[in-house]
This record gives sequence, C-alpha cells and structure tokens, in this order.
Amino acid sequence: MDPFTQTFDIAALLERIARLMRSAEHETKLNPAQWEALRYLARCNRYSNSPGALKDYLAATKGTISQTLMALERKGLIEKTNRAGDRRSVALALTATGSKTLSWDPWQRLEVYVKELAPEHRRALLTALRAILGQEIARTRLKSFGRCRRCRHFELNGASNDPSGPHRCNLFRSPLNAGDAERICAAHEPGSTSPAA
Ligand code: SF4
Repeated sequence: MDPFTQTFDIAALLERIARLMRSAEHETKLNPAQWEALRYLARCNRYSNSPGALKDYLAATKGTISQTLMALERKGLIEKTNRAGDRRSVALALTATGSKTLSWDPWQRLEVYVKELAPEHRRALLTALRAILGQEIARTRLKSFGRCRRCRHFELNGASNDPSGPHRCNLFRSPLNAGDAERICAAHEPGSTSPAA
C-alpha cells in the first residue's frame, strides 16, 4: 500500500471509530458531551477540576459546558463546591453515582480492544497517537493536558519525606502522591521527551 492510501485510511479509521463510539454514547441516557465531562473529572487532578479547565480540555464554549454541568448535576452525577480559600472558584467532583456510571462508559470497549493488541503494536499506537495529538495541540495552541508525571514541573521523589508525597510539583510547590502523578492537569507543560499526553 502506498503512503498516500495508508494516510487516508488511518484518518478515515480514526474518524469511523470516533463516530461509532459517539453513536454508542447516544444509546445511553447521557449525551457525548456529558460522557466527556464525566471522563475528564475521573482523570483530572485537583488543580484542574473547574468548569474553565473542562472548557479548555474539550475546546468547547462556555455555554455548552454550563449546560452540560447543569444536566450532570440534575442527574446526581457530579457535585459543585467552593474551592478551599477561594469562594468564587468552583470545584467539580464526581458523586458516587457518577463514578458508578463510568463503568457503563461505551468507550471502555476500546480499552478492551487495545488490550488485545500485541504489546509492540500497543506501544507503537500510543507513540503515534501522542505525536498526532501533539501536532494538533501545537497548531491550535491549546493546553496539552498531559499526565502529571510527563510534565516538566514534575520532580520524581522530590517530596520523599512528606507524607503526601513522594513526588513534587515545582509549579504549585506541593507534594504529589503516586495517584496524582497519573492524573491529567490543565497546567501541564510537556517535558523535552513528552510532546503531548
Ligand atoms: S507537575 Fe505539572 S502536571 Fe503535575 S500538578 Fe504540577 S503543573 Fe500540573
């Protein structure tokens, strides 16, 4: 197969997979925007659980995010609280029902399919998708929202004596635990070896 056909096929496959997953989302009681918000809140860290960060992550409008959050709150899937030390800032969190709902997420099927790939294919796919996403992020100048442990501000074992550690964020000057290191962050800045996620 020549490179042009390969390129065309890969783009078409990505589009079709996304389309089929969206279609599966519509078969549930939540729409795609509501699923995306739930997934984001399950993955983001404590610096990124705000309506503004969600808007940036989804590259959506303020109005869409506001409608989505109101619908999720009405359904009892998320809750809003005032952020500690800043009464004007809203912190979003999944409720127990919201977390349970994620176990019905149609996109989990993709994870199963990916798990069935040979390890070398999985690694190659991950590298390729990171590179593709990195190019689009660079073009649009959107935030990277990568994993904390791949951020240039992340210091491995930088707070090993702190009970909330052992890692450290040198931007927010706070300890990070092992779970924090795997979360995505609105303030993430790619390190020299991590172009995107
Ligand atoms: S190290 Fe980077 S990704 Fe992690 S909390 Fe700090 S700014 Fe966010």
